[in-house]
Amino acid sequence: MADPGIPALAPGSTIGILGGGQLGRMLALAAARLGLQCAIYAPEADSCAFDVVRHFTLASYADEAALARFAQSCDVITYEFENVPAATADVLSRYKPVLPHPRVLALTQDRLVEKDFIAALSIPTAPYAAIDSESDIAAAVAKIGLPAVLKTRRLGYDGKGQRMVGKDGDPVSAFRALNSVPCILEGFVAFEREVSVVAARAADGEVVSFDVTENEHRDHILKTSRVPAAVSDRVAAEARHVAESIASAFGYVGVLAVEMFALGSDTGGRVLVNEIAPRVHNSGHWTLDGASVSQFEQHIRAVAGWPLGHPIRHGQVEMTNLIGAEVHGYARWLTEPGTTVHLYGKGEARPGRKMGHVTRVIPDR
Ligand code: AMP
Repeated sequence: MADPGIPALAPGSTIGILGGGQLGRMLALAAARLGLQCAIYAPEADSCAFDVVRHFTLASYADEAALARFAQSCDVITYEFENVPAATADVLSRYKPVLPHPRVLALTQDRLVEKDFIAALSIPTAPYAAIDSESDIAAAVAKIGLPAVLKTRRLGYDGKGQRMVGKDGDPVSAFRALNSVPCILEGFVAFEREVSVVAARAADGEVVSFDVTENEHRDHILKTSRVPAAVSDRVAAEARHVAESIASAFGYVGVLAVEMFALGSDTGGRVLVNEIAPRVHNSGHWTLDGASVSQFEQHIRAVAGWPLGHPIRHGQVEMTNLIGAEVHGYARWLTEPGTTVHLYGKGEARPGRKMGHVTRVIPDR
């Protein structure tokens, strides 16, 4: 894919960000440190990213007039979540460069299209089969076997839009429980650990990835990330190579994250791609305190057309999410040696809501 050539922005320029959550907030804070402005566009009045910028637009993603005004006030536009409607990105790109290119959204919003794209790069994934209606289920089960995971093709996150189908499970009722929307059936992977790689690609094609991160989920939500991941050098190199290859194949500009399953040495010690996030990612939050350049700064540099950083990790790093009511215990973390606290300024601490995170860095001796 061709690069959308963009001129480097001058300090003081404005980067528009679609989405007003904590990722947008941390992007805007990173931009501010580099002397760049951000304007946020989001439809939720309580968007926590609004609090850290001078200009924001509170409007629907379908409001073409508001999108046009927003685009005209920006020099380049990016996004902090992948479910931006294609029509929204189209309207914006009539006025200003949208980076990463909106074609990446189309590729990553649909699990089947995404998996086909990865497979075409000869990068391994869990085996999968499409299920559009109940009549496809028998063939999919015959191909993939059970146990398996049934996932909606679109709009799944944090375990939403998926159902485990056990060895003797009933895939038809799982499909109905997902409202019979188009799905993929994915072979269940007995992984040793879950890892991810956050990589940045600049418009000139340079790709820089962060160290491989090991991720632990609780109730399908990321709870803890640790760096370096406890994988062999070979697996770490392969994981980075996979993420860098995907960034290059997309002709990507910005930061993306690739979530992978690392298999144990008894099953080949390989990595299988689970999912691509075309944005900064929760498993890269450790970089704010644990590396010389953060994922947020890398993304801002890339979309601004600035040189990427070459991050150096400060030691062993552990990032823990504060989810729901856990945030009320923030004072304990404030006094913990070597710990940095990030609170997102969100209102209600609803169950499952990411309210903040803490990072602990243990310097290498
Ligand atoms: P996803 O929404 O695809 O990122 O899946 C959420 C979580 O479900 C992953 O982080 C894994 O812990 C688990 N999971 C997803 N797909 C599979 C699979 N094919 N085999 C085993 N576990 C899976």
